[in-house]
Amino acid sequence: MTVPVPRRALLSASASASVAAPALVRAQGAARLLVIGGGFGGATAASYARREYPWLDVTLVEQQTRYITCPYSNRVLAGDLALADITHGYEGLRARGVRVIHDRALHHDPVARSVRLGGGEALSYDRLILSPGITLRHNAIEGYDEAAAERMPHAWIAADGAQIALLRRQLEAMPDGGVVGLVIPANPYRCPPGPYERISLIASYLSRHKPRSKILALDAKDTFSKQALFQDAWRALYPGMIEWISATNDGRVVRVDPGAMVLETEFGTRHRVDVANVIPPQSAASIVTDAGLAGRTGWVPVNPQTLESRTEPGVHVVGDAMFPGPMPKSGFLANSEAKAAVAAAAALLRGEAPPEPIFVNTCYSHVGPDYAISVANIFRADAESRSFQEVPGSGGTSPRGNIPEQRRLEALHADGWYASMTRDIFG
Ligand SMILES: Cc1cc2nc3c(=O)[nH]c(=O)nc-3n(C[C@H](O)[C@H](O)[C@H](O)COP(=O)(O)OP(=O)(O)OC[C@H]3O[C@@H](n4cnc5c(N)ncnc54)[C@H](O)[C@@H]3O)c2cc1C
Repeated sequence: MTVPVPRRALLSASASASVAAPALVRAQGAARLLVIGGGFGGATAASYARREYPWLDVTLVEQQTRYITCPYSNRVLAGDLALADITHGYEGLRARGVRVIHDRALHHDPVARSVRLGGGEALSYDRLILSPGITLRHNAIEGYDEAAAERMPHAWIAADGAQIALLRRQLEAMPDGGVVGLVIPANPYRCPPGPYERISLIASYLSRHKPRSKILALDAKDTFSKQALFQDAWRALYPGMIEWISATNDGRVVRVDPGAMVLETEFGTRHRVDVANVIPPQSAASIVTDAGLAGRTGWVPVNPQTLESRTEPGVHVVGDAMFPGPMPKSGFLANSEAKAAVAAAAALLRGEAPPEPIFVNTCYSHVGPDYAISVANIFRADAESRSFQEVPGSGGTSPRGNIPEQRRLEALHADGWYASMTRDIFG
């Protein structure tokens, strides 16, 4: 059921300078929430808006008809799961009353409060939530562009699954004794522990099927998330298989040659590999960068209380596209941010103060099929510094040590996390 927001409430929404714009007030019509991007952030926002604020008229625009999750895609690479196991539809959102449109959002006009779609339709809104994810910065590594990705897949944006399927086929086709090269970017990027989970699960596959093979991980950083835990596990589970080279030790790749299958570092070392997984530097997706919402960092600065863009009040940005300060770019956080953005948008539409948000994150990483580790943190919005801050003492990682039962339990927790999170979003 759609309950109209009273006209008086819309007009008195003084907490946000933008809210009382006349175009917003649709007499006794429902307030319109438009969401762009139907992934972890956007689909959560649309679903929660209908669940918690049934007076909102909610439209979701997503360019793909099915959503394939990046979480658990490394298990597809390892051959433990199929793409179908990590593919989700939008029937659940439709059943909740979300109008789902499969089209590409092309242009956002903040003055007219409207978004133009590829199919020609223009959608007006009272509040907009953008969660379009990332774009890959092609040619930030010389020679790495869309064409190169057909030979050296990134598999870092799941989209229709083609990149994940390609990398999996290449791993299957590689002879025993081959070398898999990974190129890993500097911070910030989508899913800080993701590349190291990927190294682990490729090693899991190779150790079972091509045990003479090697993994060469070339990193643009000197340290990484859950490093000690990953490296302990690599030594224990895959001895001698993985070589990780830090930036200081000439791990930063600056050039690739897909024809010759060569990865070249900043000091000129040329590594010839059999399979190359190149994860390039990233920035916010084009719908927000084209609209000028992203700052010099390539990510969108927001007001941490409401997740509204600092330059376009009334436009909330969540998920990986947002500049998150100390928060990692994770699906769990995108889900948490989306709920906070919806609560803020609804409060502002009603002329109320937005609630104080808390952001929760747990990132599980599989290192083998029955072996997982995790890191957890809680963050809050600090009004004074206008930034996100980690709540002191709130976080931590799995303990180190030879504790196989704990690792097995964490793998079960990870499966439970994936099932409950995807049900929360798409169910
Ligand atoms: C290998 C890997 C493993 C990961 N594992 C985990 C994990 O275990 N746990 C975890 O919490 N996170 C994990 N992540 C991170 C997680 O996938 C992202 O943080 C999360 O997807 C971000 O959500 P989002 O809504 O910002 O973007 P996305 O989920 O990418 O959604 C963006 C959506 O917007 C759509 N879109 C973009 N532009 C437009 C447009 N113009 N018009 C219409 N639609 C558009 C896209 O098609 C896409 O569906 C992992 C990532 C990778 C790469």
